[in-house]
Amino acid sequence: MTELTNWIDGAHVKSGSGRFSDVFNPATGEVQAQTPLSSVDELNDAVARAKAAQVGWGATNPQRRARVMMAFGALINQHMDELAELVAREHGKTIPDAKGDVQRGLEVVEVCMGAPHMLKGEFTDDGGPGIDLYSMRQPLGVVAGITPFNFPAMIPMWKMAPALVAGNAMILKPSERVPSTALRLAELLQEAGLPDGVLQVVNGDKEVVDAILDNDDIAAVGFVGSTPIAQYIYGRAANNGKRAQCFGGAKNHMIIMPDADLDKAADALVGAGYGAAGERCMAISVAVPVGQKTADALIERLVPRVEKLKVGPYTAGEDVDYGPVITAQAKSRIEGLIDSGVKEGANLVIDGRGFELQGYEKGFFVGPSLFDNVTPDMEIYREEIFGPVLSQVRAETYEDALKLTMNNPYGNGTAIYTADGDTARDFAHRVNVGMVGINFPIPVPLSYHTFGGWKKSAFGDLNQYGPDAFRFYTKTKTVTARWFSGIKDGGEFNFKAMD
Ligand code: NAD
Repeated sequence: MTELTNWIDGAHVKSGSGRFSDVFNPATGEVQAQTPLSSVDELNDAVARAKAAQVGWGATNPQRRARVMMAFGALINQHMDELAELVAREHGKTIPDAKGDVQRGLEVVEVCMGAPHMLKGEFTDDGGPGIDLYSMRQPLGVVAGITPFNFPAMIPMWKMAPALVAGNAMILKPSERVPSTALRLAELLQEAGLPDGVLQVVNGDKEVVDAILDNDDIAAVGFVGSTPIAQYIYGRAANNGKRAQCFGGAKNHMIIMPDADLDKAADALVGAGYGAAGERCMAISVAVPVGQKTADALIERLVPRVEKLKVGPYTAGEDVDYGPVITAQAKSRIEGLIDSGVKEGANLVIDGRGFELQGYEKGFFVGPSLFDNVTPDMEIYREEIFGPVLSQVRAETYEDALKLTMNNPYGNGTAIYTADGDTARDFAHRVNVGMVGINFPIPVPLSYHTFGGWKKSAFGDLNQYGPDAFRFYTKTKTVTARWFSGIKDGGEFNFKAMD
């Protein structure tokens, strides 16, 4: 059994906590490694070392720090296949999907190559007689990143790249379900020239997270995960005087107008609903066709497409549309939610429960499920299922569909399919959701914009990556300066003194 490590001061270090968590191969159900659940003392030691390493790194000029990102980016490209395999082995997603995971992280690293531009300050010449003002962006010190299981490469990179290039040291606490990719990325960052100690990867569970939240030397916490944990971490971090941005769960709606191209909408729903086994915070889990005719026509198009989906292990190659879910518990939770949908009267058009794959009987596979006539009071509507389950909620009018989306407590992503520019524009303006797609099912913004939901999908201000990340990971200092040699009594500028 492989015993995974922490990454401390640029080396793999075994934890002495004596506590471990199993890392599964979700396709086979086998335990393939054990990740340490580090102790409070181990975390505090890692922070003290990071604090010492940050002094030199923070004083390194931004262009040199950006060069580390350039080398890191090149190494990610060079190791793309290996990283994708690591992601797929622990998460279960297909290789093309795993490459997408790495690629979307790499794109944030690429923006960080231009960090000097993002980090430069502002200057006011002659704000008063002989007075100049300038502001600078300074690193916070030691910051922490706490990441979820569903993007083992992308989200650690969303956290690490901007935090590090801004001159901070980082404690990264990856998901205990998928720790290996973060450890490999740490090795690549070292190879790229990151000084030892500036990035510490400390594996663990709630014990380590709480130690992060209570450590006075950690200035900021960037979290991504489920809503209850996001809210908890935000509260405790803020209470301890830390800057915090905590991104949570989602229930993303797609509105399909009667004038939409229904074939394109159905294709988009299948990709966005079932891709990565529905384990994406930007997955579409609710389809909202407007009008009964649209709903009937849409379900007619969805059924053959969903029935055609191929579920299997990543090793089966491009033939597979999506893989297993992350754990046996996730599988039984998803199947339990499907049971509740049936009990509460939704129409289960395609049933993915009890799915088994020959040769992979112990794998955590869930077949695709499709519900029609779901109503907002049902558990399958209220809960984030985070599995390959799409629910159709029928709306009579556009206003009803908009109201449904707006009344949902989550506000990560949403989409509208329509041929009408006015409706699309109205939707984009009025909907209270952070990321909006127009004839675009998963509107994850490009890396030089920013990513963030509204309502219960995010706690704290400022989004992830893009310009907001540089704001989050730096603090502004503004200097007002006056030099008396050039100033006459009374404050007027003495031009003669300049001769
Ligand atoms: P999770 O909340 O269970 O875990 C996230 C992190 O929190 C992990 O590192 C975990 O170790 C830690 N954690 C778990 N329980 C904790 C506790 N009680 N106290 C302290 N720390 C704890 O989330 P997950 O299952 O790994 O990821 C899936 C969730 O993440 C989904 O809800 C999904 O929507 C969400 N997500 C959101 C975004 C976004 O940007 N909004 C992106 C990806 C995933």
